[in-house]
Amino acid sequence: MKLFLLIVLTTLLIACSPAQDSGKLQIVATTGMVADIAKNIGGEFVEVNALMGPGVDPHLYKASEGDVSLLSGADIVFYSGLHLEAKMGDVIEEMEGKSVAVTRTLPREELLDFPPYENQYDPHVWFNVLYWKQAAEVVRDELMARDPEHADAYRQNAAAYLQQLSELDSYVHRRAQELPADQRILVTAHDAFRYFGREYDFQVIGLQGISTQAEAGTKDVQELVDFIVSRKVKALFVESSVPERNLKAVQEACRAKGWDVQIGGQLYSDAMGDAGTFEGTYIGMVTANIDTIVGALGGNDASN
Ligand SMILES: [Zn+2]
Repeated sequence: MKLFLLIVLTTLLIACSPAQDSGKLQIVATTGMVADIAKNIGGEFVEVNALMGPGVDPHLYKASEGDVSLLSGADIVFYSGLHLEAKMGDVIEEMEGKSVAVTRTLPREELLDFPPYENQYDPHVWFNVLYWKQAAEVVRDELMARDPEHADAYRQNAAAYLQQLSELDSYVHRRAQELPADQRILVTAHDAFRYFGREYDFQVIGLQGISTQAEAGTKDVQELVDFIVSRKVKALFVESSVPERNLKAVQEACRAKGWDVQIGGQLYSDAMGDAGTFEGTYIGMVTANIDTIVGALGGNDASN
């Protein structure tokens, strides 16, 4: 009888563990960018679910009931961290023991502040590709530790992916240098691009502050308009996960002062493009952004 019970219990346990269904490590990631790392390094040995799809704002995202059951069934939960997932803090904390912030090894003394919040860091680190390489290393190490059987595969996949990221970093540097220094000005809806600006030498101005939760003040808008007009900034940029109406107002105000600034296109900021497209990958989103930026601000024809 005891043996029978044991068999039943064991069978039940196996049936309830999602990792056993497919034999794959079950991974849940918060943003698409984090999920993309896990897919690239985990390859065929993992099943990755991303909670936030294209166009979703991670600062405002709250876990649904479906998310909570996905999270509790996961073997590993990878999240961006640095309070990017501001409304998911409690849920992530509950997953203690299996939740991993991919930004956890970034040197804190290098990180930018996060006004108006005290003692918080700017979470938009993925736009410095070198930081995202470190995030990829965190994912690699975690997969190797939790699934040692496939450690070699994870190590090899990571090496290949890190190489691609190094090439991406060089590409962004090279394209940025096509613009004269005084034209490397990036005006966007919210301040997602400060690490990008620091690494690739752009002056970055966000209308809405770092978090999309902040409202743009009228005084800030006037200052921004004066800056754009006086520096003859050619283009402003819309972001995929932030409404564009505030930037339209800036554009109108510049036109009223006689400077026809363009909307230079849409940048992927806190979310990637559609699944199945190049922009639906991290490498694709970063490539699309720098191409859009350099194209609108001058690019090759700036020397003419
Ligand atoms: Zn953001």
